[in-house]
Amino acid sequence: MNLKHILWPDVSEKEWNNWQWQLKNRLSGKEGLKRLGKTLGADVTGPLKAIKTYKWAATPYYLSLIKSKDVLRDPVGKQVIPSPKETEAPSLPLASSDPLREKEYSPIKGLIHRYRDRVVILATSLCASYCRHCNRKRQWARPECITISREALGEIRDYLLLKPHVREVLVSGGDPLLLPLEKLEFILEALRTISTIKVLRLGTRVPVTLPMRVTDELCRLLKRHRPIWINTHFNHPNEITKETKSAIERMQLAGIPVSNQSVLLRGVNDDYDILRSLFCNLQEIMVRPYYLFQCDMVKGTSHFWVPLEMGIEIMERMWAHVGGMCVPNFVVDLPDGGGKVRLLPSHLLESDGKEAVFSTFEKRLIKVRLSHA
Ligand code: SF4
Repeated sequence: MNLKHILWPDVSEKEWNNWQWQLKNRLSGKEGLKRLGKTLGADVTGPLKAIKTYKWAATPYYLSLIKSKDVLRDPVGKQVIPSPKETEAPSLPLASSDPLREKEYSPIKGLIHRYRDRVVILATSLCASYCRHCNRKRQWARPECITISREALGEIRDYLLLKPHVREVLVSGGDPLLLPLEKLEFILEALRTISTIKVLRLGTRVPVTLPMRVTDELCRLLKRHRPIWINTHFNHPNEITKETKSAIERMQLAGIPVSNQSVLLRGVNDDYDILRSLFCNLQEIMVRPYYLFQCDMVKGTSHFWVPLEMGIEIMERMWAHVGGMCVPNFVVDLPDGGGKVRLLPSHLLESDGKEAVFSTFEKRLIKVRLSHA
């Protein structure tokens, strides 16, 4: 199935590769879902119910990555087409709209300060496509495209000037790469005037859902404000296309390293072979698989949750059989604002201070005399 040819048969290549055309032609809301349902002959009653609570929009490009007619079973479709399960009651008792307690850790508007040495700035509420597993779904109720004001940014700057131990700022959202370039430049410039801020990071899903947004002009802007790291969010090998490869390459040529944070999602990537292929393919395009997150217990996402043991089992196989550069840290962002913890297998079985017993990746036991004993 090629949704591009079905839904946009007359689009020229020039239009398709233009990010503004992509944003203007997003499918969204009731009308968009009905159009999709009619095209695929699918019943969208459930998705229509879900968008009364959680909004919906998707770029033509990202929708074109859906290959199965049964969109809610497709690994890309599942991430972007609303599911009636988002509003089903069973998920609610365990879930919270803000399990990481970001609101509590927000000393001033638009800023989250959870860890001592780094902060997050929520620069915009706009995203190219709304990921159904997003952990900031609570923000979707806000009008689209709220961007941080100059006044709010000024207050953030004043706050950071009083916190010299903060050395890194993650500009997130929403998606900061959808900001008008003047606004993005203004934010990065303001941060660069704080001498204690050494590193900037941008959290963006644009390379995955709207890769044509990564224009030469945007790359030049990023280059001017290095050191900048991009953290993006690929979840499935089907998301790595010639368009994404070329967007990533443009950023790399501008001297911007790109790493990836995936989320473990039921029915999307909760499978060893899929994740192995995703991580190896990312390494091939020089994107470092950095984190694999256990899906946060966010309201409206319980249909994506994977048992923790399953994630550990997949990752143990990965640690044993795949080169370390391809293996991300498996991480749980603990509910109740507990912060991130890494889940690592322990190969040290016992140690009495003189000798230690290790289990190899092939489960062979090796006794080691400790040098200091
Ligand atoms: S792009 Fe990021 S912030 Fe936007 S919906 Fe997806 S996960 Fe959430």
